[in-house]
Amino acid sequence: MTGRHRVPGGVLPVSPALLLALPMVLLAAGCGPRPGTPDVLASRRPSAMAGSAPSLSPHVSMTLVPTPEPTPSSPPPRPKVLVVGLDGVRYDRVLATKAVHFRQLMRAGTFTTGYLDVLEKVHSSSGPGWSTVLTGVTPDKHGVYNNSFVGRQFTKYPDFLTRLETIRPSLHTAAVTAWRYLLDTGAVGALVDWHATGQLKPYEVGAKDAVIVDRMTDLIRASDVDVAFMHLEVTDAVAHRAGVLGPDYRGAIETVDGYLGRLFGAVRARPAFASESWTIIVTTDHGHKDEGGHGGVTPHERMIFLLAAGPGIPQGVRRQGARQVDVAATVFTQLGIPLPESLDGKSLSTIRPIE
Ligand SMILES: [Zn+2]
Repeated sequence: MTGRHRVPGGVLPVSPALLLALPMVLLAAGCGPRPGTPDVLASRRPSAMAGSAPSLSPHVSMTLVPTPEPTPSSPPPRPKVLVVGLDGVRYDRVLATKAVHFRQLMRAGTFTTGYLDVLEKVHSSSGPGWSTVLTGVTPDKHGVYNNSFVGRQFTKYPDFLTRLETIRPSLHTAAVTAWRYLLDTGAVGALVDWHATGQLKPYEVGAKDAVIVDRMTDLIRASDVDVAFMHLEVTDAVAHRAGVLGPDYRGAIETVDGYLGRLFGAVRARPAFASESWTIIVTTDHGHKDEGGHGGVTPHERMIFLLAAGPGIPQGVRRQGARQVDVAATVFTQLGIPLPESLDGKSLSTIRPIE
């Protein structure tokens, strides 16, 4: 099923009280007027995303905001998880910029850094990287060694959204990606409630990301999405063209950081936010050489990070040993769902700091 899809209800108005509570978010870069959206979106089962959030009594437990004392009569907050995939982001270059929203998440959660564990035949590329993030298993299991996806084993090792749809079909899942290949190859499975990608002609670096962010913020604001994966590509495209040491890559990082601010703002603006408990996870698929380019085994090409904030995840902690397989495990744990046995990762809420 293909066609334009608008989120039911569109963008909800923000109350004055929320506006007062969100000055930093609303002033962030990237909150300007929306660009035109000459996109083609593919969506599946959009009706599953319709409907308003349940009205529960207030209980805020997102670590990005102060947590009030729970009252005995409060129902448990509804867990929600947003995974943001940023293509080809070298975290050392992020930390060379202000990146206010990235740093906000670092303060609120656990920041792990490390290197891709590339086997002999695994490229430090998007195919294996996102396949590992999505499936929560290592390449020798999911079978994606390079961007051809030849040998993929997504039926045996599906993405975490698909697994969640199977284990708990009532969950609303969404995947919004700038890289259509993730949908076409089944790296994101067909059971996922809401799929979207961008198709722009002529192709313009970065324009697709703006569309993707619009779609994701619309979904967060106006649907009852429980678990979402989104993927942005501008950082990788710019790194290939201009390397990671100059102003172009810095600009791409600042753009993406502004997008993070918009996403956090959309989460906080949810009508049911007070009765929800959100976890935000940000990660990348691979690094880049200083001059741009990846696929090989040099440390810069294999540099990755995993940043997560949410209930139970240690706050303000930095540690080494980042593993992409830990993303899916963290998603399950944050939703209170036991880890499927075949997953290779550990939840960041259960890994104790080592530094
Ligand atoms: Zn690349």
